[in-house]
Amino acid sequence: MEVKFLGTVSPYCKDEKNCPGYLVTNGKEKILLDCGNGVTRNLKLPDDLENLTIIISHLHKDHYGDLLTLGYASYVFHNLGYLPNRIKVYIPEPDMYTVSEGYTDDEGWGASRLVKKALIDYEFLQKFGEEQYFEFITYDENTELEIEELNITFAKNPHQINTYSTKIVDKNKTFVYSGDTGYNGNSLVRFAEDADILLCEATFLKGQTRTTDNHLYAYEAATIAKDANVRQLVLTHFFPEIEREDYVKEAKTIFENTTYAEEGKVLKLGGI
Ligand SMILES: [Zn+2]
Ligand SMILES: [Zn+2]
Repeated sequence: MEVKFLGTVSPYCKDEKNCPGYLVTNGKEKILLDCGNGVTRNLKLPDDLENLTIIISHLHKDHYGDLLTLGYASYVFHNLGYLPNRIKVYIPEPDMYTVSEGYTDDEGWGASRLVKKALIDYEFLQKFGEEQYFEFITYDENTELEIEELNITFAKNPHQINTYSTKIVDKNKTFVYSGDTGYNGNSLVRFAEDADILLCEATFLKGQTRTTDNHLYAYEAATIAKDANVRQLVLTHFFPEIEREDYVKEAKTIFENTTYAEEGKVLKLGGI
């Protein structure tokens, strides 16, 4: 199993940096975790469309913006005879009740605006148009996928809308991707226990203002990695203007074996 980093920043692309996307390859199977803006330019098409499954962690646009581009590419390559089967795209169910700290169902416009936004994005993907060769499938924390030798499971995160962490296990390696998550109430310590790699969001640096607990500070990602006893922590979901090294420096005060994700880099996890 290996992971190629296609996009590592949010909420916008800059220079060679794209919004989140990670291509996990195991033998001939490929799993694309998130498809943020710019991700398609780091894919190799049409080859990467073959045996591809896409899993979107949640319906914030930084995590699915490039589905528009990839969908149209799938349509073109299908018409050219390269793509016999529709690409399965797993997306979370819209959630009427998931609200983050500071937002509750009876707090008025804040909560209802967030819930409505999730539904609008969900409905947008359900009506994705004809010029694509996708099959959209919804999933939740009870979904378990078996794709050749890979077992894929999910854990729900505290975030503004329905959001999941993803765990991919092959015969002897475990890879966990956090998606977006708050710190309090997330289940990553249990979900990523003893994982070989935890690819974890680290949106903020100590000292930056976080208005609500919807994302992690780098030191919080490191605390999760330490408590979960993972082998290596890989940080991602950076602000485009901030140096990656700054996030790693903060995390290393708590968890030494920390590195950062960078567009084009490939991480091998052994196995096939
Ligand atoms: Zn998000
Ligand atoms: Zn995000």
